[in-house]
Amino acid sequence: MPARILDGRKTGSEVRLELLPRIARLRAAKHPPALAVVLVGDDPASAIYVRNKEKACEELGIRSEKLTPPASITTGELLDVVQTLNRRPDIDGILVQMPLPRHVDAGQVLLAIAPEKDVDGFHPCNTGLLVANQPGPRPCTPAGVIELLRRDGIPMAGQEAVIIGRSDIVGKPQAMLLLHEHATVTICHSRTSNLPEVCRRASILVAAIGRPGFVTEEFIQPGATVIDVGINQVTNADLAERLLAHDAARLENFRRTGRATVGDVHPGDAARLAGAYTPVPGGVGPLTIAMLMVNTVAAAERRAGV
Ligand code: NAD
Repeated sequence: MPARILDGRKTGSEVRLELLPRIARLRAAKHPPALAVVLVGDDPASAIYVRNKEKACEELGIRSEKLTPPASITTGELLDVVQTLNRRPDIDGILVQMPLPRHVDAGQVLLAIAPEKDVDGFHPCNTGLLVANQPGPRPCTPAGVIELLRRDGIPMAGQEAVIIGRSDIVGKPQAMLLLHEHATVTICHSRTSNLPEVCRRASILVAAIGRPGFVTEEFIQPGATVIDVGINQVTNADLAERLLAHDAARLENFRRTGRATVGDVHPGDAARLAGAYTPVPGGVGPLTIAMLMVNTVAAAERRAGV
């Protein structure tokens, strides 16, 4: 049986549309939700991410405000920007787009965001709420993965889930969220021994590594659900030919443009072996933005007492 594709565009759009009545209620309560996005410098990838977030806000009628300090900003100056946003009553959510320039202390900046306005869910206070399974903003990407699994009817309770990657923004919170769904969770990383063997135990395999096509057939238990969080730009022709061999249209597109966006999972191997899998693009990515909207609306509701 061919693998089922978990369509993140469709699910992401459902999640966003469900927010409309909540946004209308906030407006009626004279508290229109608002998100401030701080984009430091002129990194083109960050600019695209921020533009997509602004677009999502616009479509839902969430006010978004973009602040664009130059790459030369100091940690102290950026802390001042964040503190000002913390104090503003008309701002519900604050997002500082990562990565920040090397000379800026990103940890200090994230710590300065008021936890109740931390719509990325990265503040240690919100990490604590996540670990304790108390209500609070959850990191958008792993929360989006749970939403996708839930809405596609993939059982999590009692299932063996393996996550590759232990970052603070994806791997670790993903483990906690799957644990709260009663999965049996293993976290793998760059020092894990027998990685393919551990991954083959998984009925839910989540790859959050940042290496194009790293997860190949020997990692995948036939019939497993494979979630590909990775977003990688490939310009190497040999690699692209290997990863896109099963997909004539995408391969043709690569040959024309010299670039392709791929995940951490070999897409042909996932399509051949998995029971269900997320494509890249169009899988986890759209859920990340949808969950950012959910966190912004929830922050506004908490602040407005709605
Ligand atoms: P990161 O670099 O912070 O973490 C990568 C993790 O992979 C590390 O914990 C590391 O131990 C592990 N790793 C690296 N090499 C490995 C190896 N050879 N074997 C086993 N584990 C290995 O990355 P991140 O921020 O967690 O992001 C991971 C990927 O997800 C990236 O491609 C990123 O672009 C993507 N991402 C996508 C979204 C989205 O919206 N879809 C959001 C965030 C991140």
